[in-house]
Amino acid sequence: MTQLERQQWDVVVVGAGGAGLRAAIAAREQGARTAVICKSLFGKAHTVMAEGGIAASMGNVNSGDNWQVHFRDTMRGGKFLNQWRMAELHAQEAPDRVWELETWGALFDRTADGKISQRNFGGHEYPRLAHVGDRTGLELIRTLQQKIVSLQQQDKEEYGDYEARLKVFQECTVTRVLKDHGSDNAGSAADADGERVSGAFCYERESGRFFVLEAPSVVLATGGIGKSFKVTSNSWEYTGDGHALALLAGAPLRNMEFVQFHPTGMVWPPSVKGILVTESVRGDGGVLRNSEGKRFMFDYIPEVFKEKYAQTEEEGDRWYEDPDHNRRPPELLPRDEVARAINSEVKAGRGSPHGGVFLDVSTRMPAEVIRRRLPSMYHQFKELADVDITAEAMEVGPTCHYVMGGISVDSDTAAATGVPGLFAAGEVAGGMHGSNRLGGNSLSDLLVFGRRAGLHAAEYAAGLTARPIVDDDRIAAAAAEALRPFSADTAADGAAPENPYTLHQELQQTMNDLVGIIRREGEMARALKKLGELRARARRAGVEGHRQFNPGWHLSLDLRNMLLVSECVARAALERTESRGGHTREDFPAMERTWRPVNLLCRLANPSADPQETDPVRAQIALERVVTDPIRHDLLALFEKEELVKYLAEEELYE
Ligand code: FAD
Repeated sequence: MTQLERQQWDVVVVGAGGAGLRAAIAAREQGARTAVICKSLFGKAHTVMAEGGIAASMGNVNSGDNWQVHFRDTMRGGKFLNQWRMAELHAQEAPDRVWELETWGALFDRTADGKISQRNFGGHEYPRLAHVGDRTGLELIRTLQQKIVSLQQQDKEEYGDYEARLKVFQECTVTRVLKDHGSDNAGSAADADGERVSGAFCYERESGRFFVLEAPSVVLATGGIGKSFKVTSNSWEYTGDGHALALLAGAPLRNMEFVQFHPTGMVWPPSVKGILVTESVRGDGGVLRNSEGKRFMFDYIPEVFKEKYAQTEEEGDRWYEDPDHNRRPPELLPRDEVARAINSEVKAGRGSPHGGVFLDVSTRMPAEVIRRRLPSMYHQFKELADVDITAEAMEVGPTCHYVMGGISVDSDTAAATGVPGLFAAGEVAGGMHGSNRLGGNSLSDLLVFGRRAGLHAAEYAAGLTARPIVDDDRIAAAAAEALRPFSADTAADGAAPENPYTLHQELQQTMNDLVGIIRREGEMARALKKLGELRARARRAGVEGHRQFNPGWHLSLDLRNMLLVSECVARAALERTESRGGHTREDFPAMERTWRPVNLLCRLANPSADPQETDPVRAQIALERVVTDPIRHDLLALFEKEELVKYLAEEELYE
C-alpha cells in the first residue's frame, strides 16, 4: 500500500453540526490543536435544519421558569429513563450557552421589552424555546462558524497560519476510529488504561484519497440514524456512522430501542414525505383535526399527564392568552403521545386523503402573523405541496426524526464508556433524553455537552505523557475494508455483486414496516432475520468505477453502519417488553415500573471479528442489562410523591 498522509492533532472532532463545532471551540480554547472533519460542506450539517428553537429556562416570557422546572419537564418527557445527571447539567447550563451565543453574534427574536423571546413547545411547562423565526438552527450554525473563523484569525496573527490550531476538513468521511495497543508506551495512569484511541481513518469524498488524523482524543458528534428508515425528516448524512464507529471501537450503545417519530411530517406529495413540519406550528396555536373535523387529541391524554392538560377546547384555547390560570391543550403533549394518537386516528379510518391528519393554523392566526412566525413552513408547503397554510390545513403524519439511544457516555465528561480517548456529544450520545426527547432540548444538548466533550477531550490529551502509537496494521486493515466494494465481483460463489442502493431501500422498508412506530414481537423477529440476510448480501455490495466522485461507493461504506445500528434498534426493541416514550409495543402496551431503571446496552458480540465477515445468521450484537444509578434525593424532591409513584419501581420508592 502506498504511504498515506498522516497528520498529528491533539483532538479530532468528527462532525461539524452544533455539537461538533461547540466541542471544537472548547478544545481549541483549552489550547488543544483541533481538527474538525465532516461529510458535508462546512455549515451544511443537519443542525442547520433545526427550526423551532433551543430550550433554556431563561424565564423571559414567564418568570416562573427555572432550571428545576426544565429538569422536571425533561425527566417527565423521557419517562424517567434519562441519565438524570445529564438532565440536571443540561437544565442548569442551557441558559448560559444561549447567552454565550448572543455574545458571539447570534440574534434571537425579541419580546416587546427587548429580551430574547421564548416560545411554547410540547412538554415544556413554560414558553422556553429561544428562536429565530423557524430557522433557529441556521443562526446557531452561522454563529458557531463565525466563532471558529474568529479563532482562526487569532491564530493567523499569532502563528501566521489560520489553521495552526483549528482546521476543518470538509467533505471527508471517517470510517474507523483507530486505537493503539495500550501498554507499550504507558507513562501515566491514563496511558496504562488499555487500548486507547490513537486517531481516525478518513477519506476525501471527492477524490477518494485516504488519510489519517492521528490524535489521542476523538470526539464523535455525527448526529443520528434516520436514513435507516424509509420515512424520515433526516438528511442524507444520518447513517448512524458515529454509533457504528463507537461500537467498532469497543464502546457500548445505550437504549437504542428509543427512536422518536415526530408526529408531524409532510405526507404529500410522495417525493417530500417525511419532511418535518415544525412543532412551533402547534406551539403557536395550530390544532390537529381528523377527517370528521374533531380535535381528537382530547381523547388521547394519558393518565400520567391528565392533571396537566386541558380537558376542553375552551380551556385549551384560553391557555394561549392566560397560561397561569388554564392548562395547556393536548396538542402540546410530548411527541411520542401525539405521534401515537395520529397513528391511531389514521388506522381507525379517520385520516386525511393522503394518510395523515389535518394540522390547521389558518383559522388560529392572521395570515401575516403566520408568514412572520413560520416563514419556512409557509414556503415549504407553498413550494412543495402547493398548499397555502394561511388559508388551508396541512396534511401531516409521523416521521422518523431523532434517536434517543446512543453512545454510552459519562454524564460530566462526555467520555465514552470503556474506550480511553473517545468522547461523544449531541444526537450520537445516549442518555440525556431517556425514552423521549422534548422539542428544543436537542439544540441545548448540543451546546452543553458539545462544550463539555471538547473541554474534557482537550484535558485528556494534555494529561498524557506520550502520544498513543498509530498502528500500521490497523491503518492497512481500515484501507482494505474501505476498498472492498471495488472487488465485490470476485466473490467466491460467483454471484453478481449486490447493488448498494437496492440494499439500502430494502433496509429502509424493513425498519419502517417492522421496527417502526408500533412494534410487535413477530415483526421484530422477522426484521432481525431480514437484517441478517441483508448483512450477508452487503458483504458483496459492489461498485463500479473509481474512487473519484463515486456516491455508490460512499453508500456501500455507510451500509455497514446502518446495518449495525439497525440491528441494535431491533434487538433492544425486542428485548424491552413494555411501552415507554419512543418505544411502543402493541403486545406490551403498558409502561412497567420494573423496567424504569433498566438500560439496554448493545456491544459487538465478537469485537475482534470483522463485521462484514461475521456469520449473518448469528447475531453480531450482544445485549446487556445495566441498572441506572438511583436518582439523587434532592432531585427526586422536586417532584410530588404522587407523581413518582407512577414511574419509579417499588424498591426505588422505598429507598
Ligand atoms: P449534526 O448537526 O447532524 O452534525 C453531524 C455532523 O457529523 C455533520 O457535519 C456530518 O457531516 C458529520 N458526520 C456524520 N458522519 C460522519 C463521518 N462518518 N465522518 C465525518 N463526518 C461525519 N432540535 C431542537 O432542539 N430544536 C429544533 O427546533 C429542531 N428542529 C429540527 C428540525 C429538523 C428538520 C430536524 C431533522 C431536526 C431538528 N431538531 C431540532 C433536532 C436537531 O436538529 C438535531 O438533533 C441536531 O441538530 C443534531 O446535531 P449534531 O451536532 O448532533 O449533529
